[in-house]
Amino acid sequence: MNSQQLFRRSRRRFAVWYALVMGGILSLSGLGMVRALIGAHWVALEREIESTAGTLHDSLEPMLPASANPTDVLQRIFPDLCIANQPCEADPSLIQRHTLGLSDRTTYYIRFFDNQGDLLAYSPNQPNPLPSTLNPAVWQTLEIEDQSRYHQFTTILHSANHRHAPGAATHEHPSWGYLQVGRTLAVFDAELQRLRWVLIGGLPLMLGLIAVSSWWLSGLAMQPIYQSYQQQQQFTANAAHELRSPLASLLATVEAILRLTPEQTTQVPTLLHTVERQGRRLSQLVSDLLLLTSLEQDTTATPLQPCCLNDIAADLTEELAELAAATDIHLSSQIPDAGIYVSGHESQLYRLVSNLMANAIQYTLPGGSVVVSVAADDRTATIAVKDTGIGILPEEQGRVFERFYRVNSDRSRKTGGTGLGLAIAQAIAQRHRGQVTVQSEIEHGSVFILHLPWSVVRTSRDIAKSDSIRTP
Ligand code: ADP
Repeated sequence: MNSQQLFRRSRRRFAVWYALVMGGILSLSGLGMVRALIGAHWVALEREIESTAGTLHDSLEPMLPASANPTDVLQRIFPDLCIANQPCEADPSLIQRHTLGLSDRTTYYIRFFDNQGDLLAYSPNQPNPLPSTLNPAVWQTLEIEDQSRYHQFTTILHSANHRHAPGAATHEHPSWGYLQVGRTLAVFDAELQRLRWVLIGGLPLMLGLIAVSSWWLSGLAMQPIYQSYQQQQQFTANAAHELRSPLASLLATVEAILRLTPEQTTQVPTLLHTVERQGRRLSQLVSDLLLLTSLEQDTTATPLQPCCLNDIAADLTEELAELAAATDIHLSSQIPDAGIYVSGHESQLYRLVSNLMANAIQYTLPGGSVVVSVAADDRTATIAVKDTGIGILPEEQGRVFERFYRVNSDRSRKTGGTGLGLAIAQAIAQRHRGQVTVQSEIEHGSVFILHLPWSVVRTSRDIAKSDSIRTP
């Protein structure tokens, strides 16, 4: 399987899992929300029925004499009620009337039963057919033939002179009868249906959107991995290419030595020097590659320590003075008195600054100059390496930090450069939470600046003082 297929398959798998998990979570929470909504609606509905029935019950009880004919009493209070087992002629104007707190007579119906559970009277808008004997369950949901549903509340009614005696048994105080208040569930059912449609229509739409966004997101997530993979591949190809040339040249030289006749043995030392040079180049390349890898993997176990940038700049100026002098370049430094310290790995910082300085010397023509300066502001410590060399074109300036990138391959190879120097410098700077930047003008020179977050500034006087305290 090639890398393209592998990445496409990983992206597909990632998108599918993402869609499944997100779809599952959203579906469950959607269903949960709908259930909670329906539950809240249902509770509100029952509370409304109960409060209507309570108002009616409390208003009605004082009007119910124990001795009178219950039907007559009811007809007096509710003239629009139909009497059980008698033909019922509903008067629409009466049905609309507000009676004893029951204002909405189109939504609610009421029924009265005697204390034996036989139907006494009912409001004309009661759904048909309803049983004429009492079902004493407090709450009932009824579904009648035309599929319409009703929710009904049943409560007991006592006559006007009845008093609740604490501890008295129920059979000693028989009830007057029962009141049933029912409410149509048409609005509730319509709302339920609407929610069902929203779910049926919305869920697939939502799942579709999740699928599309999962595909897009998985693409975004795979992008950096793919780029890093491509960079690794490019790096391997470049490394192989870089290793091939010195190896081929080394093998050719060795073959030439082997083919020498006894009379030509005087050439051996020269050829062996070439072998040594190629060997060194190979060794340099391999150690640079290993260093880059270890910097990226961050495998160094050594702890960070305070590193004095002034010392690094001064030591390297001294060390490279001979190289600069050999190519007729004036190397100088501008180092402040105050010690500028950063926390880091000293050997790596030496390597970084030495790469910048060696480049400055390498890419400056004889007679030019290189200046190393150390400075610090509120937050950043800097080491700037400024030269009057050949400069770098603006379009090349971003690329010089890429591995194996050389502005001028031939010249660079001739000077022994591997094209890894600035990549290593940038990797070290990044490991120290800093970076290397470049400003350059062609034929006027370049400035490479290392920016590092700095921790403490100690003046040379401070250092001397602390040294004298330590010395017994
Ligand atoms: P090399 O080992 O070839 O010097 P580097 O990574 O150190 O590789 O540098 C990359 C390229 O950047 C070099 O090939 C060179 O062309 C350019 N470069 C680096 N430093 C300077 C400089 N001070 N002045 C001009 N060009 C430079």
